[in-house]
Amino acid sequence: MKTLRLEITEEGISKAGEIIRKGGLVAFPTETVYGLGADALNADAVRAVYAAKGRPSDNPMIVHIAEVEDVYDLATEVNESTKKLMEAFWPGPVTFVLPKKSIVPDATTGGLGTVAVRLPASETARKVIAASERPIAAPSANISGKPSPTTAEDVLEDMDGRIDAVLMGEACGVGIESTVIDCTGETPVILRPGFVTAEMVSEILGKECAIDPHLLEKPSEILDPAEGSADADFKPKSPGMKYKHYSPEARVRIVEGDPAPYKKEAEEEGIRTAVLDYKGDTGEAARRFFADLRELDRQGIELILVCAIEEKGLGFSIMNRMLKSAGYDVIN
Ligand code: AMP
Ligand code: MG
Repeated sequence: MKTLRLEITEEGISKAGEIIRKGGLVAFPTETVYGLGADALNADAVRAVYAAKGRPSDNPMIVHIAEVEDVYDLATEVNESTKKLMEAFWPGPVTFVLPKKSIVPDATTGGLGTVAVRLPASETARKVIAASERPIAAPSANISGKPSPTTAEDVLEDMDGRIDAVLMGEACGVGIESTVIDCTGETPVILRPGFVTAEMVSEILGKECAIDPHLLEKPSEILDPAEGSADADFKPKSPGMKYKHYSPEARVRIVEGDPAPYKKEAEEEGIRTAVLDYKGDTGEAARRFFADLRELDRQGIELILVCAIEEKGLGFSIMNRMLKSAGYDVIN
């Protein structure tokens, strides 16, 4: 398949919408990472997304909408707390998990009775959704297991020849995926940390926001997405949690302290080594981390030493990505 390069013009966006409406796949920028979009209500189109990514079919997709009201087409119920959160954080990098209407196919939600919905802040993303005239299921536009793409070039590295088109847009401003919040109960629960933190959610609601306990511990088992969903016993609330994630070709290790001696030691053994140190700048770390992993792979680096970030606020969300990319290998 030839992958079209579409420009961010009225014509390009309208073409993207048309391809999606006809059941095709288009990658497009959002403020978090590039998404690989398909008609969320078309099970065949959604299955094609899983195939293009090599994503296990039990790992559900986020459904993207263009207007707040569109959530009511997808969810049976939105409680008062969730409405407050939507008002505070939408459009933006936050996804709400809600009880789903039957119109949403099982293929989109991995067979769950819930649907994850986001109204992105990116104007380009919202224009594509509006042009398609349907909700768009869009996981990150990378091969499963690899770092998420934050530029159009990174999308093409994984998806050229596998999808219908890429909208050649800007680099993503946030750089890590949306915060996923389970809103099916009274207390919201963070299933995936992101740019919007538990502290920010608590402040809006004036009450505690819980964090899924799986986020606070090293997983007992990490599955390779290519091996599918063989394990029937481990069922975290956010199925994406059990899979290997964000891994470049190079080995990644987290260092809590000075990376220099470890770099020297590796280089003495002839291992091409690089250090990623964001000096505690969490915004910069979020924006750059995935892109840096891909860039270091291109340079043929074999070992990436990543300086740990304090797990506070946005730092907690970034360390979640860093630890996953390192397979929880921490030098301390
Ligand atoms: P990605 O598409 O790569 O951004 O990943 C989407 C994330 O949202 C995955 O970690 C999923 O497990 C999570 N997710 C999507 N839908 C649901 C849902 N209905 N319930 C819980 N988690 C979900
Ligand atoms: Mg992803």
